[in-house]
Amino acid sequence: MLKHNEAETASRHKGETPSPLIGPCRHVEDGFSLAWACETGYNPGVIKRRKTRIVKVGPVKLGSTAPVVIQSMTKVPTVDVARCVRQIKQLVRAGCGLVRLAVPRRADTEAFAGIVQKVEVPLIADVHFSPDRAVEAIEGGAAKIRLNPGNIKKRKDILRIIDAAKMHGAAIRVGVNEASIRDLTGEPVPARKRTALMLREMKKYVRLFENRDFTSLVLSAKSSDVVRTIEINRAIAETFDYPIHLGLTHAGLPEDARLPSAIALGTLLAEGIGDTIRVSAAGNPVRETEIAEQILVALGLAERLSPELIVCPTCARAGIDVTKLARRVEKALRKIDKPLRVAVMGCVVNGPGEAADADLAICAARGKGYIYRRGRRISIMAEAEIVPAMLKELERL
Ligand code: SF4
Repeated sequence: MLKHNEAETASRHKGETPSPLIGPCRHVEDGFSLAWACETGYNPGVIKRRKTRIVKVGPVKLGSTAPVVIQSMTKVPTVDVARCVRQIKQLVRAGCGLVRLAVPRRADTEAFAGIVQKVEVPLIADVHFSPDRAVEAIEGGAAKIRLNPGNIKKRKDILRIIDAAKMHGAAIRVGVNEASIRDLTGEPVPARKRTALMLREMKKYVRLFENRDFTSLVLSAKSSDVVRTIEINRAIAETFDYPIHLGLTHAGLPEDARLPSAIALGTLLAEGIGDTIRVSAAGNPVRETEIAEQILVALGLAERLSPELIVCPTCARAGIDVTKLARRVEKALRKIDKPLRVAVMGCVVNGPGEAADADLAICAARGKGYIYRRGRRISIMAEAEIVPAMLKELERL
């Protein structure tokens, strides 16, 4: 896993970094050097990860102290191999350690087998309803399949999939969705009863897999509701020792998906629950990956590899248009791929103190700015010269 991440990290450096605020990160394992943590300002080891079995998805380990792995899905037709491969590579550069593809038709599983040969990242086949697609994807090289046993009706079909996964060394993500709970009773289920029902279903599925002597399982219980997502995943974590896939279903457009995802996934991750995460958002999956990275970086579960921009919220003391200056600084930082912390502060009253932890800080006064390097004031200049002067300083760091 680490080797895999190092290769990714190297390739990400060559690739584009969409925003200094949401750049790629290196994932942090428990036991990572504390000295290193202090230097970089991250906090590995503060969050105690839940002990689980380790499940391998190709070379990627999931569970216990293995890094939390970001995954996303391609959003182009799987049969369009060239576009799929391009999107998978973008996702890896953005920080995905696993990528999932939908395979609804026979032509998709055929294309999937070809795509497996063209990329290094382990691929997951997303299967619904069809046991044939599941087996074809496994035979075509899927490192893992995503399966909601609830929509594969016949037991013998599920057993056939399990046997194929065993033979080819594929893992299986066993999912239960809040939406499918309705189908169990044929009528609306009150919200307060859904968690118990989802857990009951999960127990049933896990038993089925274990009775077939299959334990390469990753469990997922999905809902579009933040509180229910937290509740059901806590229950799953207490009941089973398999790694858990976290995510919200249908989180919304990227700007809307960010907050609920951060609350649901962030709460669980802070409790040590969750071994692979996917942020679901409409649109470009690279955006999903960026949000997922931000969540991991914020929790100290991954190290930021690109600049971090801190901007004061501004108040009546602000000497200049802080937001405008921050936007210019943000643009300038896009060209930099070092994990620097840069602060833009609106005044010299609280600015220097707030900026003391920054590698470089600008504290504005009326019509001018002071530049601080690692807490020490190094220069003063007119407002118009602030950004060019700052860029020069950044090159020196
Ligand atoms: Fe207000 Fe100065 Fe603090 Fe910005 S740094 S919020 S301007 S006191």
